Amino acid sequence: MSESSSRQRIVVIGGGYAGALAAVRLAGRARRRAAVTLLDPRPELVQRLRLHQLATGGRVRSFDLARLTGRRVENVRGRATAVDPERGSVVVERGGRTAEVPFDQVVIAVGSTVDLAAVPGVAEHAHSLADPAAALRLREALATLPGGARVAVCGAGFTGIEAVSEIAGARPDLRVSLHSAGRVGRGLSGRGGEELRRRLARLGVELVEEEAVSAVAAGALVLAGGAELAVDLTVWCGGFAARPLARDSGLPVDSRGLLAVDATLRSVAHGNVIGAGDAAAIPSFPNGARYRMTCQAGMPSGAHAADTALAALRGEDPSPFDFGYIHQPLSLGRRDGLIQWVDRADRPKEKVLVGRRAALYKELVTRSAVPSIRWERRLPGALRWPSAGATPGTRRKLENSLARDRASQ
Ligand SMILES: Cc1cc2nc3c(=O)[nH]c(=O)nc-3n(C[C@H](O)[C@H](O)[C@H](O)COP(=O)(O)OP(=O)(O)OC[C@H]3O[C@@H](n4cnc5c(N)ncnc54)[C@H](O)[C@@H]3O)c2cc1C
Repeated sequence: MSESSSRQRIVVIGGGYAGALAAVRLAGRARRRAAVTLLDPRPELVQRLRLHQLATGGRVRSFDLARLTGRRVENVRGRATAVDPERGSVVVERGGRTAEVPFDQVVIAVGSTVDLAAVPGVAEHAHSLADPAAALRLREALATLPGGARVAVCGAGFTGIEAVSEIAGARPDLRVSLHSAGRVGRGLSGRGGEELRRRLARLGVELVEEEAVSAVAAGALVLAGGAELAVDLTVWCGGFAARPLARDSGLPVDSRGLLAVDATLRSVAHGNVIGAGDAAAIPSFPNGARYRMTCQAGMPSGAHAADTALAALRGEDPSPFDFGYIHQPLSLGRRDGLIQWVDRADRPKEKVLVGRRAALYKELVTRSAVPSIRWERRLPGALRWPSAGATPGTRRKLENSLARDRASQ
């Protein structure tokens, strides 16, 4: 048997922050025992963290995936359309042709997208930050707007807040509003919420709160109460949605369509399928908090997915993913920011950091994502992350949930 046929084949689907990290960690740690393939339709890592900057005229550096992940990872261009865990194969589509890529283990890290079906008219009449092409279309549309034009950003999650601030900062001549079904700043501390509102007001952002948008039309927003609001441009930031790969493959998914995984990040139904990043429904951690779709948790989950695959390769039991949050960093334009400190379960502390230092902090956090992948490639196993701070009691809960998952398989 040749060396390559005795190596385990591990395919990572999705070369975003989580998938690229999983691939380099796996290739570096498994060395000759695994052949690692990274599958993505794009040749470059998409810096989703910077799409709002791209949309407002910022220069965003791109990173070639093959160079970033290095020679130990085989990069394959193509979109996975189905995963068959029993046969151990991924169907890959590229340029109208399909091929099968075999695997012994697969990591699904296809990320998420913007929910353009959330309300009627979004897909037809709104811009979004779904991907670089969408961000560039928004950039062009913003550039053609005359002073005084009205821009509505719908959705006041972190993406909506960052997008509206960036637009208002880059184009102070526009009338910019932020639309939210609830209060703006939910999830922040009292002080965090106040600071946010003050800073958005300083940027000239009008807040339209506790009034859901029920439809987007050409040149107008329809509000839940029935009122129509004339707008020149709408940006939809109404939340992230699952990509269809796991559901279309018949793999168990949660109510949002995310791959259902156990505490070790393996599919609840198939030991050779592992989830990472936004694509995985990571079980709530012992204190009950749910993971947000973030790079903050996504990159550690990519690293942990690699460790879970490695454990299987070595015939060992994988360990539960143990991650704790430390902050919710928000950029508010290029010169302002708000860092909400949180406990490990993502609950806000009263303390926040604001202003230029917060903007710099956020920039450093964003800038650290790609170097983390590079470091992991050079020093496999280097990435460390804060733990959930599990006490012996909460650790026992984690282990019990793991045992339950195993028993139900
Ligand atoms: C404007 C904006 C600002 C954000 N700011 C922050 C922030 O400040 N902090 C933070 O922590 N998070 C932030 N996020 C969220 C963060 O970007 C995501 O949580 C993160 O990108 C998830 O990483 P991922 O690797 O799981 O997925 P992604 O980064 O989405 O990568 C998924 C990859 O999978 C590929 N792919 C998709 N489908 C397939 C397929 N079928 N076959 C093969 N490949 C496929 C895609 O091409 C992509 O390369 C922000 C998001 C946006 C849009």
